Amino acid sequence: MMDIQEAREMVCRSGKRLLQEGLVARTWGNVSVRISNDEMVITPSGRRYDELTPADMVIVNFRTLVHQGHIKPSSELKLHAEIYKSRPHIGAVIHTHQMYVSIVASAQKDLQVLDPAHQAILGASVIKAAPYALPNSKKITFDTEKAIEGSNAALMSNHGCVCIGRNLEDVFTVCKTLEDACALYISSFKNKAA
Ligand SMILES: [Zn+2]
Repeated sequence: MMDIQEAREMVCRSGKRLLQEGLVARTWGNVSVRISNDEMVITPSGRRYDELTPADMVIVNFRTLVHQGHIKPSSELKLHAEIYKSRPHIGAVIHTHQMYVSIVASAQKDLQVLDPAHQAILGASVIKAAPYALPNSKKITFDTEKAIEGSNAALMSNHGCVCIGRNLEDVFTVCKTLEDACALYISSFKNKAA
């Protein structure tokens, strides 16, 4: 079990780090960590990440989706919840709309991971794209959860991506690597066209 205050601070810092590392391109993403067998701490809904404080982080039971306190959790919490429920070894989840991922995700195609170093971090040579579905719908949760099978990330068509790992540090590495892998994939098309 993780200390709740420590978890709040970690998730809050990670929200800001998404900004600093350029992983927030279109709109805010969301970050969570598992704190017990039933609970996660997740970023709140509708807040600017540069103004977040640890007290704004929300504790949610990922089995019942009931949250503590008066601050609303991220509207995309269902996806985080589903991942923690079905993957006991996963300790952190990040969902973003980062730029190069968004470009590949808008093509609604699986990502071919070209660099073996990227494959090692992403856990697969192909990162699957879940078909388009409305944000926060049952379908997007189900399809994305399925797309992530056998790897550490999934694309979400016309939307963004979700990255998973044992802890936040690992997941940041996955997010950044996925961004690099998408940029490389896009540039491989440009080279062919030239
Ligand atoms: Zn989203």
